[in-house]
Amino acid sequence: MSDSVIRERETVVIVGSGPAGWTAAVYAARAELHPLVIEGSFSRTMIPGGQLMFTTEVENYPGFKDGVDGQTLMLEMKAQAERFGTRVVTEDVLEVDVHQYPFRLVTTSGQEVFAETVILATGANANWIGLPNEERLAQSGGGVSACAVCDGALPHFREKVLVVVGGGDTAMEDALYLTKFAKEVVIVHRRDELRASRIMADRAMANEKIRFAWNKTVVEVHGDDVITGVRLKDTVTGEESDLDAGGMFVAIGHSPNTEFLKGVVDLKENGYVATPVAWRTQTSVPGVFAAGDVMDDYYRQAVTAAGTGCMAALEAERWLAHGGAEVHAASATG
Ligand code: NAP
Repeated sequence: MSDSVIRERETVVIVGSGPAGWTAAVYAARAELHPLVIEGSFSRTMIPGGQLMFTTEVENYPGFKDGVDGQTLMLEMKAQAERFGTRVVTEDVLEVDVHQYPFRLVTTSGQEVFAETVILATGANANWIGLPNEERLAQSGGGVSACAVCDGALPHFREKVLVVVGGGDTAMEDALYLTKFAKEVVIVHRRDELRASRIMADRAMANEKIRFAWNKTVVEVHGDDVITGVRLKDTVTGEESDLDAGGMFVAIGHSPNTEFLKGVVDLKENGYVATPVAWRTQTSVPGVFAAGDVMDDYYRQAVTAAGTGCMAALEAERWLAHGGAEVHAASATG
């Protein structure tokens, strides 16, 4: 759809198009708020559809008893939002100005969009080690993943030796989860001390299916169609060794897509958008809401993202209905 779909003054502009963005769009569209989704472009980190576009099989999204592949799920969500009249622009947002009202957004092509409410749903991306075969096998479903909860139960990981990279709570949680299916889980950590909380570390250490490869980094991922193992490098001695493995789960943190939001809305210390009131998606700027992984550093699931997308749309609707726009317009400087 071309940029000409943009109206002079938009009621609800949704930035980002993962489960949070599309769910917000479905709700806003059904409430006749005529949302515009700026879905991201294929050239940057905020790709249309978000992280699920890289997930081969989603088995924990309710409603799909046989599972659904991530791309299909996202395209269905988009089609559902469009069915109710959602308009879509395939660009990134580079700038949001909340000092004027309606808020002003600028897209990659320089297009200005003026919005009465904005729902931020730009998601987060898992951090990767940055190895060529890691990326290739992650994208092809070849046994490399950054989400144990999403992919760990898939048949090809059963009774295999699985590598978990990282020393934080996520790595411990992933490793513990994977012991349900794996023959053995090897946690590869670059230091000899964990970052994880005591309780999680103790649990992992007490599990007889888990062993630790201390002071090691993964420097190569072996395998053509599927992973067959990894090459480890000792961070102290520099020595290299091979480890046979049928899967690798990278748990070295996530980065929210909030670069363009610095100085716009309050961000938490870890860079995620702050939504200070419990069970609300309102950000530090009235009329600007945040949903999905861009504000959720805890659950990070498709279904929770969809849930907060729904919340954001309902909050935007109520904020507009209760005269939020008028109050804002009166206090805005621009
Ligand atoms: P994290 O705490 O930032 O830990 C990331 C881990 O990855 C660290 O051990 C780090 O090593 C390692 N790492 C980072 N970059 C690396 C690289 N390039 N190569 C190899 N290793 C690398 O991230 P997280 O574990 O995802 O946790 C994020 C937040 O969520 C934390 O606050 C955590 O407590 C919370 N969380 C809580 C729970 C729970 O309570 N159940 C579960 C999951 C997450 P270094 O230690 O050497 O820096």
